Amino acid sequence: MPEQWIAVSDIPADGREYTFDDQTLWREGCEAYSLAVKPGRDLVAKATIMPQSDGGILVRGTLTGSVVMPCDRCAGSYEVEIDEQYDLFEQLPEGETGEAPRVREVSGELQLDIGALLWEEFALSLPVKPLCSEECKGVCPGCGKDLNTESCECSGDEGDERLAVFRNLKIK
Ligand SMILES: [Zn+2]
Ligand SMILES: [Zn+2]
Repeated sequence: MPEQWIAVSDIPADGREYTFDDQTLWREGCEAYSLAVKPGRDLVAKATIMPQSDGGILVRGTLTGSVVMPCDRCAGSYEVEIDEQYDLFEQLPEGETGEAPRVREVSGELQLDIGALLWEEFALSLPVKPLCSEECKGVCPGCGKDLNTESCECSGDEGDERLAVFRNLKIK
């Protein structure tokens, strides 16, 4: 998980807005996780960080831009729009053993790992099954041709090409 710690001790109670437009975070994250995600339009994250009186930190903002991903059916690259709103609450560690991996204290200064937090939002915004189009016909399982741009011989002369895969199924 890419880390980017920022000091939050001196943020006033009504919050402060930050903009993160450095693309290194996303690039390093995608490399670290071997994601088949390439840069599209620059990803820009806005985050308003608001320390709460009960000790937690509220982080609210948006993440916009786009990435290029391979389609799950035809493997063609296409652009995925990212347009997310998020609203998160980070609890502060309680005592010595408290778990709060995204908040730490360094010589009396409270820091928040905004990198990990934004990366998580980004990862959640990616489609689980990326499709270049709902109608994508995919690749022929027989000859490997992209059926969006070509037709092929092996799909036979009857029936819907998209159902070709089902015709070869044998039900035991
Ligand atoms: Zn496709
Ligand atoms: Zn074919």
